[in-house]
Amino acid sequence: MDFLKVFTGAFVAFVQLFPYAVGASSWGYFGSDGPSHWSDVSATCGMSSQSPINIVSIDTIMSSMDAFTLSKFDTTTGLSLNMVNNGHTAQLNIDGAAVKVSGGGLTADYNTAQLHFHWGKTDAEGSEHTVDGTRFPMEMHIVNYRATYTSVSDAAGHSDGLAVLGFFFEIGNTSHPGIQKIVDVLSSITDAGTNTTVTPFMLNELLPSSLDNFYRYSGSLTTPNCNEVVTWSVFPQSIKITSSQMAVFRTLQSVEQNDDGNHNMYNNYRPVQAMGSRKLYANFNPNAGARPSVHLSLSLLALLSCILSRMF
Ligand SMILES: [Zn+2]
Repeated sequence: MDFLKVFTGAFVAFVQLFPYAVGASSWGYFGSDGPSHWSDVSATCGMSSQSPINIVSIDTIMSSMDAFTLSKFDTTTGLSLNMVNNGHTAQLNIDGAAVKVSGGGLTADYNTAQLHFHWGKTDAEGSEHTVDGTRFPMEMHIVNYRATYTSVSDAAGHSDGLAVLGFFFEIGNTSHPGIQKIVDVLSSITDAGTNTTVTPFMLNELLPSSLDNFYRYSGSLTTPNCNEVVTWSVFPQSIKITSSQMAVFRTLQSVEQNDDGNHNMYNNYRPVQAMGSRKLYANFNPNAGARPSVHLSLSLLALLSCILSRMF
């Protein structure tokens, strides 16, 4: 009995890590395995609170949420990092230290389990979320599970189970030193199903300089089984990397054949899903562009000159 339990547990864990190895499910991003067929794999993928979405900034509802607190993102003590090519993405598994996120309008602590990436065939596409129709070359997801649950897979069975932080990338001229630590190990996980230990580094080296602003909505995992259990936080401040750093991600080998007939991993992003009756919140005013602040500066200047003219 116990043996059966252990064996079943090990098998389930194996299938979750390497589903393609046992043909337990067949989903991908191309052809007959592509996103339009995912509801055949899991009916949830066809439901009405799915992710990603197109963020329409004029539709956001301003909401005063407290700032995020990231714990143990600034230390390597006790941290254990392992990078895996799971056949669909490059994923950094995070263990050992009490890495967690709280605040940000969340109602509990969420333990950080892993982060992974979605990217394009070219720098013109790749992100899962879009902002007013703009797609970015890559998006990073930091996956956290509610501390009252035992793991990501346990939390995936509860509507408040997961909090995912989404970050956009943009192409710049300067190599990003944090992302380079990921890029450096990609050559060790070229083949699907391989993994490598990563020398611990501070996870905040991967983040943009400010986490002050974010969008918030309720959605799902963006891969089957598309569980509708995710509190999404999408950050407008992007991470800048070079086109050559970006290119290394495309050297990974996917479990599926792409539209060029080889296995280079790219376009591992799901198309945006209907917002339906859901609401999109933001803790900032995304419509407050540069122009209002110019007006403000001009009126301050006018006020100042008025004061000065009275003084002299
Ligand atoms: Zn993701």
